[in-house]
Amino acid sequence: MSLRVSKEIENEITMLLSDLIRIDTTNPPGNEIKAANYLDQKLSIEGFDCDIIESEAGRANIITRLNGTGEKPSLLLLSHLDVVAANKDEWSVDPFGGLVRDGNVWGRGTLDMKSMTAIETMVITLLKRNKISLKGDLIFAATADEEKGGVKGIHYLLENYREKIFANYVINEGGGIGIPIKNRTLYMIQTAEKGIIWFKVKTKGIPGHASMPDNESNAILLMSKVIEKLSNYNHQVLLSDSLSQFLIKLAGSDDKLERAFSRILKDPTQSDIVLDELAKDYPDLIKEIRPRVKMTITPTIIKGGMKENVLPSECVTTFDCRLLPGQSIDRTLEMIKELLRTIDSENISLEILQTQEPSVSPTDTVFYNTIESVLKDFEPGCLVSPLLMTGGTDSRLFRKIGSVCYGFQPRLPEKPYNRIVKGEHGIDEHISVRNLVFGTSVLYEVIRRFLS
Ligand SMILES: [Zn+2]
Repeated sequence: MSLRVSKEIENEITMLLSDLIRIDTTNPPGNEIKAANYLDQKLSIEGFDCDIIESEAGRANIITRLNGTGEKPSLLLLSHLDVVAANKDEWSVDPFGGLVRDGNVWGRGTLDMKSMTAIETMVITLLKRNKISLKGDLIFAATADEEKGGVKGIHYLLENYREKIFANYVINEGGGIGIPIKNRTLYMIQTAEKGIIWFKVKTKGIPGHASMPDNESNAILLMSKVIEKLSNYNHQVLLSDSLSQFLIKLAGSDDKLERAFSRILKDPTQSDIVLDELAKDYPDLIKEIRPRVKMTITPTIIKGGMKENVLPSECVTTFDCRLLPGQSIDRTLEMIKELLRTIDSENISLEILQTQEPSVSPTDTVFYNTIESVLKDFEPGCLVSPLLMTGGTDSRLFRKIGSVCYGFQPRLPEKPYNRIVKGEHGIDEHISVRNLVFGTSVLYEVIRRFLS
């Protein structure tokens, strides 16, 4: 099976994305209403009824649907309309120019994630134009405010309009990327996300003149012990199901990896040693795997002291902790508190800022199998594997309410994996027209097969 859209459709999807890029939805302030109105206009021409839902003035979400007969489950095509800021001076093209050049569309949001909005718009449009009768409802939603936590977007919709947006299955960002392995491609479907605990640790000291230091009561020195302990703690290795499946797929591609990964799979406690050995030959790959076998705790903000010659009485550090599927927030917090108690129980306090449970969707579903078989029809011999993502997407919210969510924007490998990942939120963000066509073709076929 090849890329099966006509030149007209290729131009249509390219212009759709270029137009969306030219609508500046940098969040803050977001101002997604302009993009929502643009999509409303495009979809209305095709005969769709769209709901534009504003959580506050300008912060718009757009939802529409193709009704099925109800014989099959419902499916949501999800994306977000807002983008992160772009500094024009750093870019070689106008980040909001929507430039189409050298077979690529350039601009902020071409990867994260207006390309997916364009692809999903095209897919639902083509299903309607081609009069494909669906047995399950297909919902389309492009939301506001994802880049700032989604309070004015997905959270608002799930609280106030859940019946409009809920679906049994969800396709979202965060996966679908193909990575080249020898002469095959490994496509990764995002099936799991690490959880989050953001917390602050405060240390107390005794102020005084710095010319007469007392290292026992210096808040910054105490904090250095905290950072050292939390950041370098040797957490237990935990192989999630998605990571195990990923390693097994990868192992099949290379003898050396096969031997190494079978050691890890047999005895996960060997992970550090094995990964250290592999790091010389596969530095990028191992960088990707390391945070997926263990919990991580990383200091991200530090504030302390007030004057050159005054002993600091207080120091505050913010930490970003990422939990693996199977690790609980409560037990992790207990562990962190215990570690802090071993340093000093009186002068250290902990404040929790935000928590999110890890989230997982099963891979033994008809939908997952449909995705896999469509990819193999497009590219015989390709590998398909679940992906545990270290960051987070809105998929976690849908997993919480019972939806099966996959991060899946199918993309052909065009660059080494580490450079693909740096594109999102990066300078000179762009996507190839070829990948717009590939994404549309694959996703169209997945949905046609699954829902009709
Ligand atoms: Zn995104």
